[in-house]
Amino acid sequence: MDPRDQLEAPDRAALGPGPHTKVRRLPERARYDRGAIAAVLDEGLICHLAVDVNGLAIAMPMTYGRVGEALYLHGAVANAALRAIDGQRCAVTVTLLDALVLAKSTFHHSINYRSVVAIGRARSVVDPEEKRTGLAAIVEHIIATRATEARPPNDRELRATRLVRFDIEEASLKTRSGGPNDDAEDAELAVWAGELPLPVVPQAPRPSKESERLPIPPSLVRYGKSHREPQPAGTSAS
Ligand SMILES: Cc1cc2nc3c(=O)[nH]c(=O)nc-3n(C[C@H](O)[C@H](O)[C@H](O)COP(=O)(O)OP(=O)(O)OC[C@H]3O[C@@H](n4cnc5c(N)ncnc54)[C@H](O)[C@@H]3O)c2cc1C
Repeated sequence: MDPRDQLEAPDRAALGPGPHTKVRRLPERARYDRGAIAAVLDEGLICHLAVDVNGLAIAMPMTYGRVGEALYLHGAVANAALRAIDGQRCAVTVTLLDALVLAKSTFHHSINYRSVVAIGRARSVVDPEEKRTGLAAIVEHIIATRATEARPPNDRELRATRLVRFDIEEASLKTRSGGPNDDAEDAELAVWAGELPLPVVPQAPRPSKESERLPIPPSLVRYGKSHREPQPAGTSAS
């Protein structure tokens, strides 16, 4: 079974709301089911890791890969944020930006989004096999099947890399969609209001100098066909 299926299995309970993930502000926008949370995690390209580094709360952008209910994060062995979370509970967020929402009043301007806040425990991975699996998951997350096209990491590269496994304990998904929530008294204002969809659209690949004569690999030919399509148009960003 594809390990990703673990998160979608219908007989498993939702991932929230838990003690840290109950959406209080606009709770009608919240979902906690695993499938919806997995879909956002799989579509996102980057996460933000929230971590206490020497007493200061830092939010660090990173790539990631998902295997079941674990997210893998990687960096240099000396990476301060990844070292700080080893053995700790921390938070990871993933945000998909769907559209800008322009209202007739500045007050009601907003953003359409799908975002996940996940709370879990992190631990550095030392087992070489899990390290290879986790690193491959990160590459596959960025571009599916790329890990089978490119050279895998050698022992030196593995030693230089810190891999952290973040096991999701609870998570929330919050979504906003649709047009602006203008006030009735503004309806007749001659101010344009509506949405500007902002899909992530891949452009033509640019080969490196050494790759100019090589064919475009299958991973790139297929890229974007299964996800990162424009989302259908539901209200402030909060
Ligand atoms: C792209 C984007 C832009 C935004 N801009 C603004 C802004 O400018 N101002 C603003 O006030 N809010 C903004 N939000 C919404 C913001 O993320 C919070 O939902 C909101 O500020 C309420 O915060 P709170 O601490 O009162 O939430 P609470 O409801 O008290 O949060 C409790 C728990 O709910 C969950 N939760 C809350 N927000 C989210 C979320 N977005 N996604 C997933 N889980 C969530 C978390 O698990 C959190 O621990 C934006 C969201 C996105 C994705």
